Amino acid sequence: MTISNDDLRQIIAFRQRLHQHPELSGKEVETAKRIKEFLQMFSPDKIYENLGGNGLAAVYQGKDEGATLLIRADMDALPINETNNFAYKSTTPGVAHKCGHDGHAAILAGVAQALHQRPPSRGRVVLLFQPAEETGQGAKRVIDDPQFAALQPNYTFALHNLPGFAAGTVVVRDKHFAAASKGMIIRLTGKTSHAANPEHGISPAMAVADIIRGFTGLSMEKEGFEDFKLITIIHTRLGEIAFGTTPGYAEVMATLRSFRNDDMQRLTDQAVEIAQQAADRYRLHEKIEWREEFPATVNDKSCVDIIRQTATRNNLKIEEPDTPFRWSEDFGYFTSRYKGAMFGIGSGKSHPELHHPDYDFPDKIIPQAITMFDGIVRNILG
Ligand SMILES: [Zn+2]
Ligand SMILES: [Zn+2]
Repeated sequence: MTISNDDLRQIIAFRQRLHQHPELSGKEVETAKRIKEFLQMFSPDKIYENLGGNGLAAVYQGKDEGATLLIRADMDALPINETNNFAYKSTTPGVAHKCGHDGHAAILAGVAQALHQRPPSRGRVVLLFQPAEETGQGAKRVIDDPQFAALQPNYTFALHNLPGFAAGTVVVRDKHFAAASKGMIIRLTGKTSHAANPEHGISPAMAVADIIRGFTGLSMEKEGFEDFKLITIIHTRLGEIAFGTTPGYAEVMATLRSFRNDDMQRLTDQAVEIAQQAADRYRLHEKIEWREEFPATVNDKSCVDIIRQTATRNNLKIEEPDTPFRWSEDFGYFTSRYKGAMFGIGSGKSHPELHHPDYDFPDKIIPQAITMFDGIVRNILG
C-alpha cells in the first residue's frame, strides 16, 4: 500500500494533538473522545466505547464471513515532565507521552483510514485503543469487560516503537518477546519502643537487611530457573525520622522480572519464602501485596511468520534479537489468551529512550507501521 501525503499529514497532525493533551493511565477520558471523533471520519461499521475503562474499539467488517483480527494500540501517557520545546509539547505539567502511545494510537487511526478506503474482503478487523498499559491494568480490564465477548479475536497483533533500532526496522522474535514482571510490597510490623531501649520493642531493621540480601542472592541464583530473572529493590522505608524511637514498621518494595511465566512463579514462591522467613526470624507480622502484574508476551509462531512475510513483502528490514526484551507489556494478557504476536518498529538508533523526559514519538515511522498492520490484515483477511 502507499499512503498519500494528505492522508499522512492528517495522521501526523492527529498524533501531535494527542501528544499535546496527554492523560495518565486510567484517566484517558479526553484522549478517548479525541480518538472517537477522529475515527468517525473513517466511518467504522461499529464503535465500542468504555471498554475496560476508557478503551474503545472500531470495527471494520468484510463482505464475506471470516476470522476476527484484533490490532491493539495503547493510549496512556506517563507522569514525566516533558523537557522538549516544540509547538505541540505537552500542555499538562508533569504528564507527557514518553512511551510513544500517542504514536501507537495515531498509527491505529491510520489503519482505520486505510480500511475505510479499502475494507477487508472477509471477516472483520477490530482496532482496539487500550487504556492503562503503563500500569499493567488495561489489557486485563478490556478482556474482562462484558462488551469484549462480542469481539473475541482469532488473531491479535500489536507493536511498540523501539529506540536503539534503525528507524522503520521490524523487530520480532519467535515465542518470548517481552518479560513478565510484577511489583512486590512487603509490610513488616513489629513494635516501636524508645531508642534507648530497643530490647523493649520489635524492630524490623534486621529483617529488612535480610530481605535485601536474600533478594540479591536469589537474583543471582541460576539453579532451578530456565532463563533470565531479576529482582530489583526499588524502595524501602523503616520507621520514622525520630531519633528517640526504635522503628516498629518497615516496607520493602521490589520488582520481580523474568522471561518466562513459569520462572516468574518460581521467583514469586522463593521471594515470598525469603520475606516470611525474615519476618519469622525477628517475630514480625508480614503482609505481602502485589502490584502491576504483567505476564510475559509470548508470540505465536504462525503470527510471527505473518509479520516476517509482511515486512519482506514491503521491503522492511527485519531484526531478530537473541533474547527477549527485559521490559514488560500488558499485551501479554492477549497473547496468553489468544493467538497473537507483538513486534517492534525501530524509532532510530540514537533516538531518546522510552520514558526519558526528552523522548518524542518519531512521526517518520508512521508509514512503515501502518503498512505493516495493513499488510497483516490483507495477509489474513484479504
Ligand atoms: Zn512505557
Ligand atoms: Zn509503551
